[in-house]
Amino acid sequence: LSFCTNLPKIELHAHLNGSLRDQTIKELADMRKLDPTLCHVVEKGERTLSEVFQLFGVIHQVTTDHAILTRITQEVIEDFAADNVQYLELRTTPKDRLEHGMTKRSYTEAVLQGVQKAKAGGCPTMVRLLLSIDRREDAAAAMATVMLAAELQAEGVVGVDLSGNPTIGSWDTWAPALGHARKLGLRLTLHAAEVYAPAETKQILDFRPDRLGHMCCLDIDLEQQFFSSCIPVELCLSSNIITESVASVSDHHFLPFFRAGHPVILCTDDSGVFHTSLSKEYAIAAHAFGLSQRDLWQLSEQAIEHAFLSADDKHELRQRWAEQRSGSG
Ligand code: IMP
Repeated sequence: LSFCTNLPKIELHAHLNGSLRDQTIKELADMRKLDPTLCHVVEKGERTLSEVFQLFGVIHQVTTDHAILTRITQEVIEDFAADNVQYLELRTTPKDRLEHGMTKRSYTEAVLQGVQKAKAGGCPTMVRLLLSIDRREDAAAAMATVMLAAELQAEGVVGVDLSGNPTIGSWDTWAPALGHARKLGLRLTLHAAEVYAPAETKQILDFRPDRLGHMCCLDIDLEQQFFSSCIPVELCLSSNIITESVASVSDHHFLPFFRAGHPVILCTDDSGVFHTSLSKEYAIAAHAFGLSQRDLWQLSEQAIEHAFLSADDKHELRQRWAEQRSGSG
């Protein structure tokens, strides 16, 4: 683990509200006097997919305040920085919660303030934001998120994600907004095939996003289309196992994808909810798949190529890798 902790890393798939420390959730739940019957999902160590989405419900009930959003953003960035994450592409779903005086815009601005505070506090991690469309949202809400992302590009928003409970919603609802996002110059990363949904997975592959997330449940035809697409995929080992999308780490599709030479990026998904860190995910992969230290350096460095960053920013990151590699002997 210490090798993986020291390794410079790139995190491309981290949900803000899934990356909170348990301690912070408990503190906020106490502050908000949250109904104790809801707290059992906070206390639980291992959680099923449906308990994970229940937990997100609890977290969303305690993060309805702009100052709290700013605080948790700063905290999450500092946690990734402590794990030697050099570039963090953080994603979050802007929420209209008018009863709390919050709009999608004010939500996102509060998050961006957290990014600024972390930077002002000396945090060396480069951070960009992706705005997520939740699969529960309708076409108008999806379009509102895309328009907001486009307006905030100069503030550090680089793209749009599609996420949320994979068992609900339909592709046709969000496709127009996602197509529009592409026309506006936003980059796209879409959760796909977390559950077996071949028709939707095909629609997503045909749409050709810039990156994909998960891709756990593919049949032979989809796998072939996926491999020939060469679209990089964000893989989250602990998340897939805990939520039972994959039976065990040795059954994980990381290995066949990696062996096929398909671009893969190891990520955490929800480091708080799944009690993990990016170093732990690298260590799990190294142990389960027999990866050498050279493989791990390559995995982490190649992730730079798939970041939604300018050529200059990628150049800066490559320099950081060169420096840390020469420093590590
Ligand atoms: P937020 O967008 O910052 O509120 O982060 C939590 C949200 O991320 C959840 O409500 C889901 O919509 C999404 N999310 C987190 N983990 C997963 C996952 O494994 N699959 C699909 N969506 C997820």
